[in-house]
Amino acid sequence: MAATRIWIKNPLAIFTANTLDAAGGLVIENGVISELLKAGQQPSKPCDQTFDAREHVVLPGLINTHHHFYQTLTRAWGPVVNQPLFPWLKTLYPVWARLTPEKLALASKVALAELLLSGCSTAADHHYLFPGGLENAIDVQVEAVRELGMRAMLTRGSMSLGEADGGLPPQQTVQQGEVILADSQRLIHQYHQRGDGAQIQIALAPCSPFSVTQDIMRQSAELAEELDVRLHTHLAETLDEEDFCLQRFGLRTVDYLDSVGWLSSRTWLAHGIHFNPDEIERLGAAGTGICHCPSSNMRLASGICPTLDLQAAGAPIGLGVDGSASNDASNMILEARQALYIQRLRYGAEKITPELVLGWASKDSAKLLGRSDIGELAVGKQADLAFFKLDELRFSGSHDPISALLLCGADKADRMMIGGQWRVIDGQIEGLDVAQLIADHRQAAKELIAG
Ligand SMILES: [Zn+2]
Repeated sequence: MAATRIWIKNPLAIFTANTLDAAGGLVIENGVISELLKAGQQPSKPCDQTFDAREHVVLPGLINTHHHFYQTLTRAWGPVVNQPLFPWLKTLYPVWARLTPEKLALASKVALAELLLSGCSTAADHHYLFPGGLENAIDVQVEAVRELGMRAMLTRGSMSLGEADGGLPPQQTVQQGEVILADSQRLIHQYHQRGDGAQIQIALAPCSPFSVTQDIMRQSAELAEELDVRLHTHLAETLDEEDFCLQRFGLRTVDYLDSVGWLSSRTWLAHGIHFNPDEIERLGAAGTGICHCPSSNMRLASGICPTLDLQAAGAPIGLGVDGSASNDASNMILEARQALYIQRLRYGAEKITPELVLGWASKDSAKLLGRSDIGELAVGKQADLAFFKLDELRFSGSHDPISALLLCGADKADRMMIGGQWRVIDGQIEGLDVAQLIADHRQAAKELIAG
């Protein structure tokens, strides 16, 4: 029988993502935080178990708000190493079109395992490839999430505008609107959990302005409204995309978004780089969330997201590692370091603090996913916790433990707890043979490229 009351006692340091003090640790009851303790304070009632956290820096489980798990099969692939977004996509589409359920299962497990070991407890994935034989892609991903014991926002992506109709993706990778909408409905009814503690949620996610029709954008927004799920897409990632929108729709990206009924607080956007001041105001007034993907934006030389301007206007900012063909790592704590540094180039050192960025990676990312039960440490929140040790060479001589995580480059969680359950202990994922997973995944990656 699992203990029902656990005291995470006296952490080396703890970041609650709010103004609450938990220097003495916290108490977890049935998977939920039931007490925060100040330094020297004891739990109000005896605990069945105590975990001595004196060597650990404790954070809320980090939340990744944009990824493409399948892309772990095409990391650091020679032909696209030095390409920007559009040529990068056009070179990769035919490779990705060969994806199978078995390969997607391996890719998803690798991405999730990597995220989990980097402090991430909840991951969003944007899957938009459904070639023949892979109609059940999201079902495959649900299985992978359950196996790892993480939480996920699996977004049912779509592409409906192929090359023949003026879009970017090849024809064999696009689907008909009716097929997309029927599958979206099925997935929401089958998997979407509502309320506190949800493990699996579904959102609707037409891929980007240059790969979907306006009809599927509008219909997805209507369906999301009707079934009360969230909306996600890529927007304002590159100037190529802006040119495409101007040429095809006669609209800039945010006008396009507005024209299809997406400028709302139900929506979160990946990237959000190329906005003018008026567009930033409109996104903020609508409460549209923006997922900042610093590594990917640097890798593809796309630009720098105007995070503080968006945040000041009212748009919540989250963090995302983005797909593994443009990062190429799925490491949340390292992504927070990247965000800290790239944003300092834009806004200066005083304004971009480790606490601000860790807040984006936790509490603010939760807002993008429409969740208030995760992302911070407070009574009543889910017991999703990341534990980092500062015992490696890179931390030796560091003083402030929270800052050290980002400044010294922490890249691996020592422990992870999700909903009160230990999922990582001593740097190892419970119940997962990582060596076997890597062997199988490497083989699948070779096969995919070979064709
Ligand atoms: Zn993406």
